[in-house]
Amino acid sequence: MVDGGAPEPSLIPHGQPPAYFTFAALSRLGVPHATTTRHCPGVLSFAEPISPANPSPPFRADAVTALARAGLDLARVAYAKQVHGAAVARVTGGGFAGIADGLVTTARGVPLAIFTADCLAIVLYDPAVPALGAVHVGWRGTVQGAAQAAVVALEALGARARHLHAAIAPSIGPCCYEVDEPVIGPLSAAYDGWQAWARPVGRDRFMLDLWAANETLLAHAGLDPARIENPRRCTACTEDLYSYRKGNRGRLATVAALP
Ligand SMILES: [Zn+2]
Repeated sequence: MVDGGAPEPSLIPHGQPPAYFTFAALSRLGVPHATTTRHCPGVLSFAEPISPANPSPPFRADAVTALARAGLDLARVAYAKQVHGAAVARVTGGGFAGIADGLVTTARGVPLAIFTADCLAIVLYDPAVPALGAVHVGWRGTVQGAAQAAVVALEALGARARHLHAAIAPSIGPCCYEVDEPVIGPLSAAYDGWQAWARPVGRDRFMLDLWAANETLLAHAGLDPARIENPRRCTACTEDLYSYRKGNRGRLATVAALP
């Protein structure tokens, strides 16, 4: 915060309407990155799934051009078929990385892409190695420990959890994410402290805060909470974004590369 001024916004829009957002914290660290909005053309939708049989790149020319402005070379992008699991793929270059919900690398300039429309995309960065990770985390990924798995995969590349910077991309917030037993059952079985993340709103119904859950889980994995940037921007509340729960079938791409 600047003395006497407004707090610095942690999520910065680019374009009018914005084609993508960037995180102030990752920009300060010099990490090229972006989270696209519904105004960014050329990001393939859920109707065009990535499949191992047909792993064509998930970006068309319009998106390649838009994200070049963010310093990202999508000709080298790495991406995976995401399955709401906790597998993490190490990538050394661009292209299809198989079935995984996390990607990690020490290769400079290789953008890691995660696709969401309510789930969290979390970027993890250790400037000392340097090493970079990106992970897709919905409620299933939270139950399975996808964010923690990405931290462990980065540690295997020489990163230290205490050195990691994390940024949580726009995703569904506790304002809009009502869940019931099919979600709360597995979550409560996985984590004793789950009540801290779920506000009761009726008989067996809760507003779930996956942001708080994953901030806590990342801290338990060894991250410094002060290095976890979370703008708490809700996909269902923000017109510029896509929300699967609201019936959108477009996808947001969160992309980051090692500088
Ligand atoms: Zn909301």
